[in-house]
Amino acid sequence: MADDVRNVIIIGSGPAGYTAGLYTARALLEPLMFAGYMSGGQLMLTSDVENFPGYPEGIGGPEMMVQLREQAERFGLEVQDKNVERVDFSEQPFKVWVEGEIFQSRSIIICTGAESIWLDADGEQEQKGRGISTCATCDGAFFRDEEVLVIGGGDSAMEEATFLTRFASKVTIVHRRDVFKASKVMYERAANNPKIEIKTFKSIKAWMSDEKGLSGALLEDTRDGKTEEISCTGAFIAIGHKPITIFLEGQVEIDESGYILPEKYTMTSVPGVFAAGDVVDTRYRQAITAAGMGCQAAIDAEKWLENQH
Ligand code: NAP
Repeated sequence: MADDVRNVIIIGSGPAGYTAGLYTARALLEPLMFAGYMSGGQLMLTSDVENFPGYPEGIGGPEMMVQLREQAERFGLEVQDKNVERVDFSEQPFKVWVEGEIFQSRSIIICTGAESIWLDADGEQEQKGRGISTCATCDGAFFRDEEVLVIGGGDSAMEEATFLTRFASKVTIVHRRDVFKASKVMYERAANNPKIEIKTFKSIKAWMSDEKGLSGALLEDTRDGKTEEISCTGAFIAIGHKPITIFLEGQVEIDESGYILPEKYTMTSVPGVFAAGDVVDTRYRQAITAAGMGCQAAIDAEKWLENQH
């Protein structure tokens, strides 16, 4: 067990985490962050970010995360690229288990974000990593001049489909309704791209494969159940995300979907434990709102620590 008791440990490293790091570092709380093995969160898997104020030309997601991290580190945020395995918030100081070591802290800010949801259609498990992916920026280049599907009707699906047109010969968006959650600008960009076809009222009934990997999908009409086959060698599932709270093992109150429930402002059901970003946000889920919540959690943690003395 580490001897010293930290003022604040930040778990997770997306825009919420780095902003919490920046603010707590500038408040001279000497924060320690466990950024995870894949630091930076979902924006590391994003192509261009065009809606974060301050970047008139847009910026690559990974580049933005590097900049946020550098900015927080400049003021003294200590970052370890390790995963937190479990926590104990039952008494002060709180305990955090990381690769066999136990760290102690008076306050905690949880910013672990969310991860992609899979469809779990027939045949999916076998084709994960052999043609079916949840990350176009990671795997898109493997499908040069091939035909791919994107499943979903939100901003992620539009963004992935548009990005994939750089490589694929054809991209088909498969969506279960004819109403799209995507923002107008991102929907229009995809709909107007000559390489993109949009199929509405369709769901994936099963994935098909041959010896080379994914070969197509069996689509089912969501209105009458009629099926049709579509060929593709790649498929990208973009149907949303679920919060990463499994490591908390019931230490703070969460809702039935796993999102942390705030008790007061950004404080969770445990006084001294705060949460910010997609791990708590069922509504906005934007980089800028996550960053804003990271700032709020840092200020809440600072005030809470002050009140303990
Ligand atoms: P989302 O907005 O929740 O959209 C998920 C989509 O997947 C919906 O169209 C939904 O269909 C569909 N879906 C969900 N479960 C399904 C299932 N089991 N089978 C088939 N389809 C299913 O998720 P998201 O696109 O990942 O976006 C999440 C948040 O991140 C949003 O707030 C979004 O604005 C933000 N985001 C922003 C950007 C950007 O601005 N650059 C990029 C990506 C994401 P229904 O509509 O029928 O429910």
